[in-house]
Amino acid sequence: MPAPSEALPAPRVLALANQKGGVGKTATAVNLATAMAACRLKVLVIDLDPQGNASTGLGVARADRQQDIYAVLAESTDMAAAETPTMVPGLSIVPSTPDLSGAEQELVALPDRAYRLRTVLTRHLDHAARLSDRPDYVLIDCPPSLGLLTLNALVAAHGILVPLQCEFYALEGLSMLLQTVERVRATFNRTLSIQGVVLTMFDTRNNLSRQVAEDVHHHLGDLVYETRIPRNVRISEAPSHGLPVLVYDVTCTGSQAYMSLAREVLQREGRLPA
Ligand code: ADP
Ligand code: MG
Repeated sequence: MPAPSEALPAPRVLALANQKGGVGKTATAVNLATAMAACRLKVLVIDLDPQGNASTGLGVARADRQQDIYAVLAESTDMAAAETPTMVPGLSIVPSTPDLSGAEQELVALPDRAYRLRTVLTRHLDHAARLSDRPDYVLIDCPPSLGLLTLNALVAAHGILVPLQCEFYALEGLSMLLQTVERVRATFNRTLSIQGVVLTMFDTRNNLSRQVAEDVHHHLGDLVYETRIPRNVRISEAPSHGLPVLVYDVTCTGSQAYMSLAREVLQREGRLPA
């Protein structure tokens, strides 16, 4: 498989990945992106899940998704044409539609199948740089599998951020994900790092939650963020209004947690003092 000629672009690209569904990838992509934008950073979310939950959660109605990430990957449109503003200043999204569900099968036949996203994203970021309009962060919301779409995200990213739900099989799934990261490093993207693991839907009153959190800390140490995202009904209500939780209810515990997570992520990135 040919390596791409372009180097990774200067803005930081983070993939939100975990092959399990329902662990908080999309909630974290939407709300971390919003919290970063609230820190006056320019942020682009790429919705790489055919379910399009990040697009919905950021208020982009189905009817407004004329150009989507599928068309961008198929190179029938530019990423700039698909980039859609959101209600959050500084935050835009490349939406997805169910069209993307066919992409994995179509990509398989292509020799550059693993590098598609990296190539179109690099082109987009170079173009944006010439217009002095480059994002500071690109957050990629991955689908719940370790298929070709997630591989494309890991090849395009500087770092992976893993949302982990505190439940019984959490660590088992995590070791498979970490093996995938190793394989991607060895074959496609030597500089891929693990930005961190964030515990989601954390319930302090639940013994299992606390036990799993202890185990995860024991195994992964400093990779785990100190911030835990609590189980908070406001986080689950916000998407049905097409709003990030920080816009829906800035005072709730979920919003505060995502602001705290953004600070930690930016500290690790050297963008905020520790
Ligand atoms: P994934 O993208 O990993 O499949 P989601 O982010 O879509 O997971 O979350 C799955 C469901 O749980 C969604 O209905 C979402 O609104 C809800 N949810 C996510 N995080 C929380 C949380 N911290 N508290 C309560 N509900 C949450
Ligand atoms: Mg999702």
